Amino acid sequence: KRKRGQDNLSSLQEQIEALDPKASVASFTDLPLSEPTTSGLAASHYKTLTDIQSRAIPHALKGRDILGAAKTGSGKTLTFLVPVLENLYRKQWTEHDGLGALILSPTRELAIQIFEVLRKIGRYHAFSAGLVIGGKSLREEQERLGRMNILVCTPGRILQHLDQTASFDVFNLQMLVLDEADRIMDMGFQRSVDAIVEHLPKDRQTMLFSATQTKKVSDLARLSLQDPEYVAVHEAS
Ligand code: ADP
Ligand code: MG
Repeated sequence: KRKRGQDNLSSLQEQIEALDPKASVASFTDLPLSEPTTSGLAASHYKTLTDIQSRAIPHALKGRDILGAAKTGSGKTLTFLVPVLENLYRKQWTEHDGLGALILSPTRELAIQIFEVLRKIGRYHAFSAGLVIGGKSLREEQERLGRMNILVCTPGRILQHLDQTASFDVFNLQMLVLDEADRIMDMGFQRSVDAIVEHLPKDRQTMLFSATQTKKVSDLARLSLQDPEYVAVHEAS
């Protein structure tokens, strides 16, 4: 495996800066991605990008906030997981940097699915990743939390930790993802989301995905999205 040397990283950074987010990208190997992500995608048999992926990933790699809408089954998971891995990799994130990315999911089942995809495509990265969905004792989870770089969580459980786990530090957080954001809001998690966001640094990248198009100003305001790129993929008629 190639080492993540300075030269490699700065050339990757230059390629990201030069990337035209409007140019359509067909295959993952056409994107300026790190070696571990490229290998993880290939080993998981992902080759060509879906519509939402090719339209949103370049913006997300460039650090933009994203508001993405595409129907179920369109490939939203990789749309946020690839930028999460890449953006932390380019920042040379290590175990000492703490939590870098927080991914919120409305249900435990969906959180588990996201975590499994993360494990597959992230297998060649050195990041630590955890699933925080309850079911284990708070104490057990507390001990692992402080060491995690990427967490996939349900809103209620992570809020419990933010309120109660003193060692759980989020001041360094770079990215917040809300998957199935419409369901998170519909399921009555608005107040949890507000409270979670209160704990997080304002200067971060935020990505919202849902199956329906939501531009509800109240939702955008509560998440303090900054000049988000709207990416909506409509069904071909
Ligand atoms: P969504 O979250 O939009 O409902 P998922 O991310 O769960 O969609 O993806 C739906 C299915 O499509 C999954 O089985 C996933 O493995 C597959 N998939 C996603 N992206 C690709 C891709 N680029 N190439 C092939 N299959 C893909
Ligand atoms: Mg999904």
